[in-house]
Amino acid sequence: MIASYSIRDITFSYLNQPALSINSLDIPASSVIALVGPNGAGKTTLLHLLAFLITPQKGSLSFLGTKVSTSDLVNLRRKVGLLPQNPYLFKCSVLENVAIGLKLRGFSRRESRKMAIEGLKKVRMEGYESRWPNSLSGGEAQRVALARTLVLNSEVFLFDEPANHLDLESVKRTEQLILDLNRNEKKTIVFTTHNLTFAQNLTDFVIHIFQGQIVPTAPYNLFRGQIQYGGKIFDTGAIQFNISKTTGQGTCLLVDPSKIYFSTKEEFVNLPNVFQGRIVSLSLLKNVVRIEALAGEKFEIHAPISLDISGFGIGKDVWFQVSPEAITLV
Ligand code: ADP
Repeated sequence: MIASYSIRDITFSYLNQPALSINSLDIPASSVIALVGPNGAGKTTLLHLLAFLITPQKGSLSFLGTKVSTSDLVNLRRKVGLLPQNPYLFKCSVLENVAIGLKLRGFSRRESRKMAIEGLKKVRMEGYESRWPNSLSGGEAQRVALARTLVLNSEVFLFDEPANHLDLESVKRTEQLILDLNRNEKKTIVFTTHNLTFAQNLTDFVIHIFQGQIVPTAPYNLFRGQIQYGGKIFDTGAIQFNISKTTGQGTCLLVDPSKIYFSTKEEFVNLPNVFQGRIVSLSLLKNVVRIEALAGEKFEIHAPISLDISGFGIGKDVWFQVSPEAITLV
């Protein structure tokens, strides 16, 4: 099957300020992909690249099997529906706002209005047609903008933080809309979020972005520090990691929370990267037990749900070993 998008060795900078550097990324057709990362990670920049609003300074981007060139951009923009972050509503009625893109794409006034009414129904905004944007709440405005994107019926939908400003019920409804678009209409959907749970409710294809790069895990255990002793030690100022057997290049150290081995007894003698800490929180994530422990730095550990946690209370001592394959330098 042809991928919706293929990215190879791209970099993008804003006025010499690097924002994105991706070696390889394929987005299969009819998939739902979440771009997850903290603020400033580069999610919106990547989404704008996929919406053909910006072009990479280096590398290649293909769309539906064809390499994108700058002369195609205007046409390509019409093939994707983008819901921007903090979308702008024009100073006209809600109905006109939703119909605007349709008119630009050549639909008659009558057809556009009919389709806009349907779009507003999808986001539960029927009855708001003649209202003006300045009378809407943040959540209502976000739903109008979502309707405006949905009515375009593009092959690909790109949603930038679609759950922004929404109450819990509207978040659930948006989740359902995204799932229906994909399952019933086979649309390719890429959305950004800083909320991993929202992402995981919708898809197993989660791409973690940090400092403009794709990283293997969520940046839960992200430590800043200095590399010392000829590249053997990473010193955070509070603890030291032995990094002689680790992968990656960069100035931050990332520890995969699912590759930390731990015990409530003193164990792992003579192994590198063993730390003693204290449990400060215990909770249940989607399919793991989440343990937070303080050991000079705060660590997040993910244990299988089958784990017997009877010995793991808050305030208890814990010994854990960070295996070399758990560590990546980014
Ligand atoms: P995210 O969506 O993950 O919050 P962004 O893609 O918006 O991240 O930003 C990535 C980086 O690029 C940040 O350091 C941000 O400050 C910078 N950036 C974003 N937009 C611009 C811009 N228009 N001009 C200059 N720098 C920008």
